[in-house]
Amino acid sequence: MTAANKDNRKHSKRRSQLVKKLEEKGIKDRNVLQAINAIPRHIFIDTALENRAYEDTALPIGQGQTISQPYTVAAQTELLEVKKGDKILEIGTGSGYQSAILCHMGADVYSVERHEKLYLNAKKNLQELGYRPQLKLGDGTLGWSAYAPYDGIVVTAGAPVVPEDLVKQLSVGGRLVVPVGDQDSQVMVRITRVAEDAYEEEQLRHFKFVPLIGEKGWD
Ligand code: SAM
Repeated sequence: MTAANKDNRKHSKRRSQLVKKLEEKGIKDRNVLQAINAIPRHIFIDTALENRAYEDTALPIGQGQTISQPYTVAAQTELLEVKKGDKILEIGTGSGYQSAILCHMGADVYSVERHEKLYLNAKKNLQELGYRPQLKLGDGTLGWSAYAPYDGIVVTAGAPVVPEDLVKQLSVGGRLVVPVGDQDSQVMVRITRVAEDAYEEEQLRHFKFVPLIGEKGWD
């Protein structure tokens, strides 16, 4: 952290207020809430927006992209059911905030981003906090087969359909959390690989994400 964005008591007080709000909205996983309480979200956004860092809202990060709303990050992470040591693939590194939450929870994190500027900036942000997940610049709709299978895969952009490559890269017992729909609204889908050839699908509530762009996503 630089002198300009150093974490201070004001930030941590706002973080605990945010955590309280997330609990009121229904987030129950103690490890998720604890990670949100610990990770300084303000270092993942432009300093001009620092005073909005702990609002429960998405904020711009450049390239027409956003850091997701904290409630959305918490809800997706809760659905992933992350355990310490789980290998987790994130599609859409963005600012790096979601990766930091997963690293803090003790996951072995892999993340793919298609915008070079965001990829480089996320790497810097994560290094500042001492986290070193494996990051890749590329099309996440194809997953990251070199490190598959994964215990969890989280897609942080809205897909037109469930990307098949991601389903194939789940371990048995693995969970894929992906928002699916049109570009205005998506339903959160969780697919669990219950056996080598068997999957269970749940459809949860609606969200609004930036589009997942790529070979198996939007054009
Ligand atoms: N998880 C991010 C964070 O914590 O800041 C927020 C992600 S933002 C809502 C969605 C991200 O997905 C954007 O950075 C966008 O560039 C990226 N994205 C969209 N399509 C992608 C693709 N096919 N592969 C990788 N990243 C993609």
